Formats: sequence, C-alpha cells, structure tokens
Amino acid sequence: MPLKLLILGGTAEAAALARAAAGRAEITTSLAGRAGVPTIPGRIRIGGFGGADGLGAYLRAEGIEAVIDATHPFAARISAHAAAACAAAVVPLLTLRRPDWTRQAGDRWIEVETMAEAVTRLPGLGRRAFLTVGAGEVAAFAPIRDVWFLVRLLKDASLPLADYTVIPGRPPFAAEAERALMTEHGIDLLVSKASGGGATYGKIAAARRLGLPVLMIRRPPPPAGNSVDTVEAALDWLESPQDRPVVRATLDEP
Ligand code: NAP
Repeated sequence: MPLKLLILGGTAEAAALARAAAGRAEITTSLAGRAGVPTIPGRIRIGGFGGADGLGAYLRAEGIEAVIDATHPFAARISAHAAAACAAAVVPLLTLRRPDWTRQAGDRWIEVETMAEAVTRLPGLGRRAFLTVGAGEVAAFAPIRDVWFLVRLLKDASLPLADYTVIPGRPPFAAEAERALMTEHGIDLLVSKASGGGATYGKIAAARRLGLPVLMIRRPPPPAGNSVDTVEAALDWLESPQDRPVVRATLDEP
C-alpha cells in the first residue's frame, strides 16, 4: 500500500514535490485557498483545518502516515499547527523550506526582524517604494504618508494606503523585467520579505544592479524538527522510514 502523504502547499516547491512524489505515495495537497489551484497529481483539498486540533483530527480521520510542510517560509501559523498536530497524532513531519537568499557584493540590504520594524524604518529610506510583501501585509504600511507605493499583488485590489498603484503579477519575475519596471516607476526603495528561492529573486538582482536599497524583512524562526531545503531531499526522507522520527510534544506547548 502506498504511503498516505499530506503536503501542506501553496508554494512552487510544494507543487514540484507533488509531481516528483507521484507514484511513490498517495498524495493529498492542502491549500489555504487564497491563490490559484496548481495542476498537480493527487488529491487537492482547500481551506483551513480549524487550527492545530482540526489538523490533528484530519490526520487521524484520513489515516495520514506522513506530512511534509512545504508552505511559504513566512506562513508561520500553519507550520506551528503542523508541528503540534503531527506530534499529537504521532505522524512524522518534515519541513521543506527553500534556501534563504544570501547577501552579495553590491547588495544594499537593510534587514529588519518584523513587518512593524519595516514600517518604522521605511520613511527615512525612500519616497517611491516598490512594496512586494503580499496582500496580507500591505495594511501595516497604511500610517505612512509622503511615500508613493508601487504594490505588486496577485490581483488588483483597493488598499488602505495614502498614495499607491497596484500592479497585478504572479511569479516568476525575470531580473531584466524587474529592472525595467523599477526604472520606469522611478523606484528608490524595494521592500521585500526574505522569501528565498528563484521565482522572486529577480527584484533583488535588479535592485543590486540599480544600486537601490532593499528593506528586507527576515524570516520568522524555522519550525523545530526535521527540515530539508530541496525536493530531492524530501523524496529521500519519504523513502527512508528510519529517517522519519516523530517529535513528541503536547498541543499546549508554546
Ligand atoms: P499562515 O498565516 O501560516 O496560516 C493562516 C491560516 O491559513 C492557518 O492557520 C490555516 O488555517 C490556513 N492555512 C495556511 N496554509 C494552509 C494550507 N496549506 N492548507 C490549509 N490551510 C492553510 O499562512 P499564510 O501566510 O496566510 O499563507 C497561506 C498560504 O499561502 C500558505 O499555504 C502559504 O504556503 C502560501 N503563501 C504564503 C506566502 C506568505 O508570504 N505568507 C507567500 C506565498 C504563498 P487553519 O488554522 O484554519 O487550519
């Protein structure tokens, strides 16, 4: 019987994993449902579980035998829920997290720990900011006046910012097109999460080329437990039962 695998998805890596693991496991990919639905093998379920308890109940009801959390590095809540639920349901958990970007010569990164810190620092750094932090985080920048924002989102939206233009777009974005976009709009500051991976790295390379500062919000701490940063390593884990220890904890641990 193939292993019953739940992939927590919503990323290019999760889709790549579902494709690579097809035929080796009985796969269900879970999506939050806020973006599009990829074309991938296996079942797709959409929407939240109702917290860690709900996810734990789902794992038991579906007889899930392994979970790979391949969510975005900034999706900290679902990752914490996965850790708690897998521990409670005694299901092995692996985190697949794309590698972080590394600073290169010429990069002018101003690194901050939180979105709130980015909001505080931003007004002193630029007047025409390219804001690429995702729809869920844009509202944090509402108190800022005297800065025009070019905001890239998956789809057009009305935002609570004083002065802005939305450009809809979906990764991947090439460095040359990013450079042209920033030049066309007279951008003097890029605001980015430290998401990592290749699909959104173009703006980082373009900012370096243009000599622009980048207000970079660092990733939240990684979840505890087993972690890999490539699809290949995740497949190795799937095929090596001895490498799948269960981290025991209780749901009321912090
Ligand atoms: P989050 O803050 O960690 O999660 C918020 C809630 O959304 C969770 O508590 C859970 O609801 C539900 N959820 C999140 N991911 C889910 C999944 N894969 N399947 C089922 N339910 C899920 O997450 P987020 O930052 O809003 O991200 C949502 C999704 O978008 C994730 O799948 C992530 O991979 C993807 N994404 C996020 C970012 C980002 O910058 N944050 C960027 C690109 C893609 P319940 O508590 O009800 O279970």
